[in-house]
Amino acid sequence: MSVTTRFAPSPTGHLHLGHAFSAFNGWKRARDSDGRFLLRLEDIDPTRCRPEFAEGIQEDLAWLGLDWDNPVRVQSRHLAEYQTVLDRLAREGLLYPCFCTRSDVIRELSASAAAPHAPDGAPLYPGTCRRLSPGERADRLAAGERFALRLDMRAALRPRLFYEEEAEGRIVCHPEAFGDVVLARKDAPASYHLCVTHDDASQGITLVTRGDDLRPSTDLHRLLQALMGWPVPAYAHHRLIVDADGKRLAKRDRAMTLRDMRERGVSPQEIIDRLSRMEAFAHGRHART
Ligand code: GLU
Repeated sequence: MSVTTRFAPSPTGHLHLGHAFSAFNGWKRARDSDGRFLLRLEDIDPTRCRPEFAEGIQEDLAWLGLDWDNPVRVQSRHLAEYQTVLDRLAREGLLYPCFCTRSDVIRELSASAAAPHAPDGAPLYPGTCRRLSPGERADRLAAGERFALRLDMRAALRPRLFYEEEAEGRIVCHPEAFGDVVLARKDAPASYHLCVTHDDASQGITLVTRGDDLRPSTDLHRLLQALMGWPVPAYAHHRLIVDADGKRLAKRDRAMTLRDMRERGVSPQEIIDRLSRMEAFAHGRHART
């Protein structure tokens, strides 16, 4: 069966070997099945994304020989679509404005004995603005105070959510672990979670291939799919590439960027060979060669 996969980097730096591994996984699954491999630039965060990185990503992928099916989806050109999703969730009473700053949240949490975190590492929101009276909320909105939009998790939660993880089978979801997650930030029109789930649906992605670091977020994505009636793709989360100290590669590790490797004379074929060996290992189907 032919699959549609995607590579969805955020243009906040140059691609490193870990990104290349992710792109290669998606590309290979699509090409092996005579399917489609799409490129999406997740540039929704204006404070961190830069056009030169977006260009660099396409240059690096082309250099590696990982071709994608056009058009490239650039999230910042689709803000109206994300707004439509927010409008619908708001009409259904599932969102509320949150005026808290990051330090408000931290202060409030430090006053309580436990400081729980969501699966993505964000502090679990204590629900302060959910409890505002309608009058206070209206006053603060009228005063032009800046706000984020949070999902009212208790109202939004749906029972018996699951997805199919390749090679593992059915994974039961617990989106409630995220609490009242932010879906539109004060400084960005929509959150990663909202945009990625929307785009997987609108681009017809049938298999999401991405790093294991994003696996916990899938529970939340599954809830958004249920709320919006979007199709549910299959997922194949791959292991992360780590450095010699066992630490995950980061964009700041310059030596591991494709750019740097290219300058040092490493050929694309050498990288692809290396990634192919890793892919077999990642899914645990074969021993490392
Ligand atoms: N844009 C995300 C990142 O660069 C990846 C999104 C995804 O694959 O779901 O980490």
